[in-house]
Amino acid sequence: MSAILEQRKLISQLMSSAATSHGLTSPSTCKSFIIGHCPYDLFQETKQPMGHCPRIHSVSHKMQYERDVKKGKKYPEFDLEHYSILKKILSDCDVQIEMAHKKLQHHEEHSKLAALLQAVNQLESKCALMLSEIDMLIQNEEVMKAMIQSCKYNKLQTERDTLSEKCRQMNENTGQSAQQKLQVCRVCGAYLSRLDTDRRLADHFMGKLHLGYVTMRKELDMVKKRLHEQGTDLHTYLPQTRRHQKAVYRGKSYRS
Ligand SMILES: [Zn+2]
Ligand SMILES: [Zn+2]
Repeated sequence: MSAILEQRKLISQLMSSAATSHGLTSPSTCKSFIIGHCPYDLFQETKQPMGHCPRIHSVSHKMQYERDVKKGKKYPEFDLEHYSILKKILSDCDVQIEMAHKKLQHHEEHSKLAALLQAVNQLESKCALMLSEIDMLIQNEEVMKAMIQSCKYNKLQTERDTLSEKCRQMNENTGQSAQQKLQVCRVCGAYLSRLDTDRRLADHFMGKLHLGYVTMRKELDMVKKRLHEQGTDLHTYLPQTRRHQKAVYRGKSYRS
């Protein structure tokens, strides 16, 4: 065998062994990339970069998968892998959204507190006015009128005490953060200002991070539907713990 022929044989052997070790179904192949979008790619050059995917993104495998699917072949294990990755990332995002909502409610409490304090101040000055009125009545020896006013004064004072106690309790539960007109993006969890112009809002909704979450939510629905149709019980693939989730981000494991 000539040297060239021998070299070609060696190369083709190497290529075939590479094909089997990194084939479409190999654990080192990124299934998210094959059936949709890999989150590592979606987050690149955003405020939440995840670095580079530790698995292989192969366009030829993607094409092979698409050809197979067209012929009717099914890859439920790919769907499951993509499902568990997306579910974990999006569950985390949903937790952030919930927390952001709670924080904003806190801000609203802050403005309620301000209104309450104003009411207490008003009652305070009413009480002061009434006291001097009672003094005047006593000086003028209008005892009956003074007694009636005293009753009213006591009532007002109780009202004021109740309100200021409410204020004190509310103040303990409310943070000192400044009140802003904010809302939370239901898709990606970012804070949006209600005072933002349409242009700025449009910038957010067209931003890479927001669109990445839109894509992931759509793909989650898609694989979920497909897996349901195949009768897969998805409860076994729900996110386990946050620690496990971090491992997934680093590409160490996809399932427990
Ligand atoms: Zn990937
Ligand atoms: Zn958003």
